[in-house]
Amino acid sequence: MILDAFNLTGNVAIVTGCDTGLGLGMALGLAEAGCDIVGVSRKPPHAAAQNITALGRRFTAIQADLSHQKGLEGIVSTAVERMGQIDILVNNAGIIRRDDALNFTEKDWDEVMNVNLKSVFFLSQAVARHFIARGGGGKIINIASMLSFQGGIRVPSYTAAKSGIVGITRLLANEWAAHQINVNAIAPGYMATNNTQQLREDAARNEEILSRIPAARWGTPEDLQGAVVFLASDASAYVNGFTLAVDGGWLAR
Ligand code: NAD
Repeated sequence: MILDAFNLTGNVAIVTGCDTGLGLGMALGLAEAGCDIVGVSRKPPHAAAQNITALGRRFTAIQADLSHQKGLEGIVSTAVERMGQIDILVNNAGIIRRDDALNFTEKDWDEVMNVNLKSVFFLSQAVARHFIARGGGGKIINIASMLSFQGGIRVPSYTAAKSGIVGITRLLANEWAAHQINVNAIAPGYMATNNTQQLREDAARNEEILSRIPAARWGTPEDLQGAVVFLASDASAYVNGFTLAVDGGWLAR
């Protein structure tokens, strides 16, 4: 029956940046759908650990700094060691740096590109090697942005990285679909998290953004739960290389 296809009982999902914001919301959604969770984060993910174990799911935390790539294979081996398998990877961790393009520094360029694009590629590679070695496929879900489709203002490295996410989502889907690995992305709209705190605190920008969202509200981490469960489940078996906007209608405007 179709609702059974959404059931994730017995699956193990890695969620990067699971300690707060959208990552925490998606980890909880996946756990509610039946997943055990491997939370990757820099800080101890107390809320994720507490809420996921309260649902009766297993949770393990792996501390990692995704601004460099040397620990990425270790994340996969530790996850397999502790949980026995990996079925789903959600590449959620991300940062943003705001400055005029004329003043933007190489440091702000490199830091954002490393976390938001380079580590996404190499962690996906490490997880896909695990999927292919064990057989049976898997799911990779990347977190894109409105700035995967639009230019934005004062966020050059973020726009470059998030535009790149849509490209590598397609490329990896093309290369790995034959291995039953689905690679897709979710493009959140304007969501109320740390990432957008500066925008929401600026009354003029807040009003400008809100007035352009057809749904007339900022999104919440819970708004991503349906999309992430769908893309992590058998219900999306024939969805490959697509970026699904969850944006209250922002892109339709
Ligand atoms: P957030 O700042 O609350 O969360 C970011 C997460 O990434 C945190 O868990 C943080 O610990 C983790 N992280 C950052 N740098 C890291 C590093 N070097 N190593 C390990 N973990 C690291 O913001 P959020 O809004 O929840 O962002 C989650 C994702 O959603 C990001 O990729 C962001 O770009 C994307 N996004 C957010 C919005 C929005 O409106 N909030 C919109 C579109 C896309």
